[in-house]
Amino acid sequence: MDIKDHIRGIADFPKPGILFYDISTLLAHADAWQVAMGRLAHAVRKYQPDILAGIESRGFLVAAPLALKLGCGFVMLRKRGKLPGKTIRHEYSLEYGSDIIEIQEDAIQPGQRVVVLDDLLATGGTMAAGVELLRQVGAEVTGAATLIELNFLSGRRKLEALDVPVTSLAAYD
Ligand code: IMP
Repeated sequence: MDIKDHIRGIADFPKPGILFYDISTLLAHADAWQVAMGRLAHAVRKYQPDILAGIESRGFLVAAPLALKLGCGFVMLRKRGKLPGKTIRHEYSLEYGSDIIEIQEDAIQPGQRVVVLDDLLATGGTMAAGVELLRQVGAEVTGAATLIELNFLSGRRKLEALDVPVTSLAAYD
């Protein structure tokens, strides 16, 4: 089964000139989603995680079922102001401006092995921010994984520069 057969490219979203890869069709297809999760579980198991961290919001859709499959815990990396209690934040640059992601300060025990997940790796800025935030709370980040990777934006290089290996199921040139 080719995962790409279940991913839609939608032109001019969210802005003119952008081709948006939409996983709604993959999520809606029970068999294809099951296969995708099975393949990702196989790949992510190699990183021997204690915890999977999902990046808001589509990263949650990937990380939460995978955590159940692998017998790991699941933690949320969220946009600013969404998490209750004491949080730790990391600010990172975007093409225009900056953004902040947060984690609850007690979400990870120091030294726990964590794999960070999202739906798609583009420039790698979001994933790299996730890695830096997890390191701030003492995690050992052993890998990163996504459903989709856009090769032409070289996000993989950004993560490899942080010594984090990356797995993706479907890459586009
Ligand atoms: P990056 O930070 O440039 O790697 O962008 C990745 C982030 O943007 C992820 O959180 C994705 O969910 C989101 N993203 C960027 N492009 C797409 C797309 O084509 N489809 C779905 N999500 C995307």
